[in-house]
Parts: sequence; structure tokens; C-alpha cells
Amino acid sequence: MPRHADRKQHTREYATRNGLTYQRAEAQLRARRADPEHDRVRRYVLSGEVAAILAGEGLRGVAQVEPADAWLARRTPRYECDVCHREGDARIEDTTLGLVMAAYDPDISPVTGMISSRRQHAACGGCWVHWAYNVEIPQGPTFLSLPAIAEPDLAAELSVEVHPILLPDGEGEQQPALMTTVQVTKDAGAGAAAWLSQLELMLREAGFGTLDDPGEAEGWSVRVVEHYPASYTAQWVAVRATPARDGVAPDHVYLGAWSPSWEWLAAVGRSRHILLIVGPVSVAGEVPDPPDPGNVEALWELDEEGALLAAQVPFELDDMSDRVPRPERPE
Ligand SMILES: [Zn+2]
Repeated sequence: MPRHADRKQHTREYATRNGLTYQRAEAQLRARRADPEHDRVRRYVLSGEVAAILAGEGLRGVAQVEPADAWLARRTPRYECDVCHREGDARIEDTTLGLVMAAYDPDISPVTGMISSRRQHAACGGCWVHWAYNVEIPQGPTFLSLPAIAEPDLAAELSVEVHPILLPDGEGEQQPALMTTVQVTKDAGAGAAAWLSQLELMLREAGFGTLDDPGEAEGWSVRVVEHYPASYTAQWVAVRATPARDGVAPDHVYLGAWSPSWEWLAAVGRSRHILLIVGPVSVAGEVPDPPDPGNVEALWELDEEGALLAAQVPFELDDMSDRVPRPERPE
């Protein structure tokens, strides 16, 4: 066999053995040939947690995980120690790893990803993992683009806000609901009423009914997060129009910080479903004023006019107080 065919075959075998693409295997083998010491065994000392992460255990939404040995072998053996800042060499000194990981969250971080990694002399410190949750949660209204059904190039901009409300159920009990108010902020010259009518069509198609006779909206759900492990936004809510799936964030009608009252949280308790109210939509070509969420009479009036849509949707109260970030790496 000619020499280059031999080498190609070798590269293919190496790629298969280590779960690499051909190009990556080729790059690794080229690096080894350029550095005769490259093949010396790396002296990584991995903790159970770090080894598990490198093996892909518990990682969500990650399509493919490179085998840990291959990942470690691909890195230059020399490094600057993260603790003493002197040079280290994983070929001749025991070396530990620190990983900064983006923690999984179905709404804002649907992939568990490695943000960065550090190395240090094992003598200077052990392995560590830091789970980063500090994603900025938006404050205030969510702005949505609503494309025209007939002309997808044409779109309106909607401003969406959410209000936790309690509705008397007639038996002296308070039923928790989520009022989602919608306003057209850019109508692309078509007038707000036309867009609100289109929104109504889409919501009815999704399964929304009236306040009196709510529908079941397929794929929609509400997730309320308490004690989110980022210091500045501990409470937020996500109103989803599509299901949460690993690797893909849902379409959000609303995602943002909020602070419901304790009465509302107590009323919602361990409910598995919640009444989601959306409106106002247009009535006979007119755009009603957004309701005062505290005024239940006004809500019923709007409902009688046909300006509100409602659906029972799955509800999740996600208390994350047990998931505080692990301690920062040792100093
Ligand atoms: Zn060191």
C-alpha cells in the first residue's frame, strides 16, 4: 500500500477508536508527529464529578460528547497553573481540572455547556466545578413579533405583560390565574385591531376558549421560578407557547422577572394547571383598553364583550432554593 493510503487508514482507525471526526483525528496525529513527547501519558487526576461531566453524565441537550481521553489529549500539555500562576506540564506533574459549566435550565439554557476550563497543579488544588446560573432575566414587558398569516414578511410588534390574579370562584375560594395583557406597539400600517384579530385566530386555533369556558391549549405551559440561584433576579415566570425540550428553548410569549404576592403563591400551591387569560383582543374592529388586573368586574365585562381568551395550561412551580451554585473554586 502506498504510504499516504496507509496513513489515511491509520487516521480513520484512530478517529473511530476515539470517536473523532476524520479532520480532528488528523489534526491530533499531526500535532503528535510535530511533538515527539506528545504521546507521554498525561497525569490528570480527576475527581468523580469532573470525570462524570467529561463522560457526558447528566449533561442535557448535548448532541455529542467527545471522549474525555481524546479531549484531554487534544489540549497542549503545558499550562499556566490557575492557582500559583507558574507553568505546569501535564506530562510530568499531577494536574487537576476546574470546569465552569452553564447549568441546564429548560427556559433559558436548554443545553448544559462547558463555558471554560482551567488547570492547576494537583499540589496547588483539587478539581472543582462551578455551575453558572447568572443569566440575565429580562425586566418589564416582553416584545414579540407577530408575523401576518397571509404575508409572513409583514409583522407587528406586541408588548406582553403578565399579572398574577385571584378570581373568586363563587364558593368563597380564590382561584389563581395568570392574566397576560397584550398591546400592539407597532402595527406596520395595518391598525392594531387587525393584528389583535389575527392573534385571536391563532389563540383559538391553539385551543383557547373564553373565561367562562376555557379551552386546553396544546403545547402551552407556565413555569414560575422561585429562588433562582442568581442574586439579582430570584423570581421569574415563563409563559410558553411550545413544549420545553432538551437542547431547544420553548417559544416564550413572556419571560421575565416578576413578584407575585404570597397569597397568589399560596393559592396556586401544588396545582398542576393554571388558568391563563390573554387579552384584550379586538371587538368589532375596536381595541379595548387593557384591563386593570386588580379589577375583577372589569375582567368579567371584557369577557362578556368577547375580548378575553382563556385556557387551562400545565403549571409548574419550580422552587430552586436547593440548587444554589456550588462554592466558587478554592482560593
Ligand atoms: Zn500551581
